[in-house]
Amino acid sequence: MNLPEQLAAIVGAANVLTTPEDTAPYLTDWRRRYHGTAAAIVRPAATDEVARIVRLCAASRVPIVPQGGNTGLVGGATPDDSGAAVVVSLQRMNRIRAIDTANDTITVEAGCVLQAVQDAARAAQRLFPLSLAAEGSATIGGNLSSNAGGTQVLRYGNARELALGLEVVLPGGDVWDGLRGLRKDNTGYDLKQLFIGAEGTLGIITAATLKLFAQPAAQITAIAALASLPDASDLLGRMRGEVGPELTAFEVMSANALRCLLQQFPDKRLPVSAPQPWYALVELSDHESAQHATERLEAVLGAALDAGVVRDAAVAQSIADAQAMWAIREGIPEAQLRAGGNVKHDVSLPISAIPEFVAATNAALEARFPWIEPITFGHLGDGNLHYNFGTKAGIPVAVAFEHQHEISTVVHDAVAARGGSISAEHGLGQLKRDEIRRFKSPIELDLMRRIKAALDPDNLMNPGKVI
Ligand SMILES: Cc1cc2nc3c(=O)[nH]c(=O)nc-3n(C[C@H](O)[C@H](O)[C@H](O)COP(=O)(O)OP(=O)(O)OC[C@H]3O[C@@H](n4cnc5c(N)ncnc54)[C@H](O)[C@@H]3O)c2cc1C
Repeated sequence: MNLPEQLAAIVGAANVLTTPEDTAPYLTDWRRRYHGTAAAIVRPAATDEVARIVRLCAASRVPIVPQGGNTGLVGGATPDDSGAAVVVSLQRMNRIRAIDTANDTITVEAGCVLQAVQDAARAAQRLFPLSLAAEGSATIGGNLSSNAGGTQVLRYGNARELALGLEVVLPGGDVWDGLRGLRKDNTGYDLKQLFIGAEGTLGIITAATLKLFAQPAAQITAIAALASLPDASDLLGRMRGEVGPELTAFEVMSANALRCLLQQFPDKRLPVSAPQPWYALVELSDHESAQHATERLEAVLGAALDAGVVRDAAVAQSIADAQAMWAIREGIPEAQLRAGGNVKHDVSLPISAIPEFVAATNAALEARFPWIEPITFGHLGDGNLHYNFGTKAGIPVAVAFEHQHEISTVVHDAVAARGGSISAEHGLGQLKRDEIRRFKSPIELDLMRRIKAALDPDNLMNPGKVI
């Protein structure tokens, strides 16, 4: 039997895809910047099937590329163009295995779409707080493997902080059952942390036990217009001081990011009147009532308006208003894609360093490339910016891509000089695999290589990614 036939013996012929029409969606990334080929796409429905697939591939030295919703932004789920790899899509492993409300945990299979997990938690009167614009397609396995961040990190943490236990199929095909729902467990190395953020290079996550939280009584959203990024930073400090942990989102958008959104989605409306260089989307989660939340949010925004920190602000008066505000922020990645893409960076810095970093780096790039247009937005509350560069009106975006390497070198050097990270939440994948070598110490790189070699000595798990 050839490889597809052997895979079919495990998952059934209908779940082994080999024709170009069937395989195409699995062989390119969301941004359409990476394209690969594969011996087959295989779609297991159970952990045991994943283990048998991995054993089969290990025996014949066939590389494996794990894939979830394929919404990653660094080419991590796209195979190379050798055609040697098998893409293991976890999408059929989408069962909620258990909800334990007394323990505030949910155990789900890796292919569960993030939104389905949020919905299941809500149905049990709980909150699963991980939230990002791709939540309708991204899977828990992908979220954990890329240690996703999103819009609620400043209150609830990254995917890493939401995971209590994992089930993983290891590179040889053994299954590690680490599905513990414990908040305290000091029994040696915390092995689950190895697989979280590993981008599929150490094993295939097949299930996870995740933390749940109390649902807030109300979530109130507002958009504030600001004259500068230092003012946004000032507003963030005020909100942290006034509402503390009830501040659950603090996102910023530059006027250029907004312009890109409104050009691509003309039906969207910004709820504040006077145009300003920056906008902040803020969300307050309140455990008392909507009225209490609105009063607190209006009080802190009112004080910021009086102090001249905020130029204009609109507080959502209904769920529809809040959804419309979030649609503005969350529509920006799609708008950029429709506009032809741009040179992307996903950087994190100490929050205190961000205004100066943006001013200095914009100036350095504008001096060198007069056609450049910064399109900046992101999670200011986490010190994480999507610091992207396109071209001014009339200049094809291809010009920016021609200079991608130079632009990214300037940005990443500026980030490193200020103690930041060149990948805040998207991972390394293929995009930053080589670049990271400029920033990690030889000891750190050596430790990463030794961990990889110990777990995957034949380099069959997502080769060519991360390291
Ligand atoms: C519009 C848009 C908005 C986004 N916003 C955010 C954001 O705010 N924050 C953020 O962090 N990310 C964001 N992303 C990036 C992306 O959605 C996340 O990285 C997401 O967590 C990826 O999940 P996925 O299931 O699509 O993973 P995939 O893209 O399928 O895979 C991502 C990586 O994980 C590996 N992998 C997938 N499943 C498994 C598994 N079960 N076991 C082992 N390895 C696996 C893959 O090999 C790959 O290396 C956004 C993407 C889009 C398109």
